[in-house]
Amino acid sequence: MENLKKYYIYRIPQINYIGSTSDIKRRKAQHKLKRKIKCDLNILCAVFVGDKVRRVIEQKYINIYDSINQGANKLKSYITTEEKIKQKKIYVEKNKKKIVAVLRKYYLKNKHKILENKRAYWREKINCNNCGLEMCRDSIYKHKKTFRCKNYVAV
Ligand SMILES: [Zn+2]
Repeated sequence: MENLKKYYIYRIPQINYIGSTSDIKRRKAQHKLKRKIKCDLNILCAVFVGDKVRRVIEQKYINIYDSINQGANKLKSYITTEEKIKQKKIYVEKNKKKIVAVLRKYYLKNKHKILENKRAYWREKINCNNCGLEMCRDSIYKHKKTFRCKNYVAV
């Protein structure tokens, strides 16, 4: 069960920013410090909800005031799973080179360990799921083609 809290959804008209907080006084002080300008926190609504619902409501106001395109909001407060998947795809597409480089770096750094794990995996003793014979994992493919395994009849 999510923790329910009283949240205030507010707008700062000077910079067209939508935010939410459970402590309006503290948030106001933070904004003032960061922006170094006069910031009014106009309360749009007060709700008693969990964090997810808070973000959904916040997003509704971000849409109404278009505060991402024409204001100071940098990120969406709430996005659907579909949007998340789409964003991830776009991110991967945009950063392909970077991602490959990171993976490559990781591989090179941990090459020894990775190869060892791989070897251990293939060296592991397992039982054939058809005839029950025990062998190393790397032999199973060949083994399954053998006459003995193919014609095995459980008794
Ligand atoms: Zn077998």
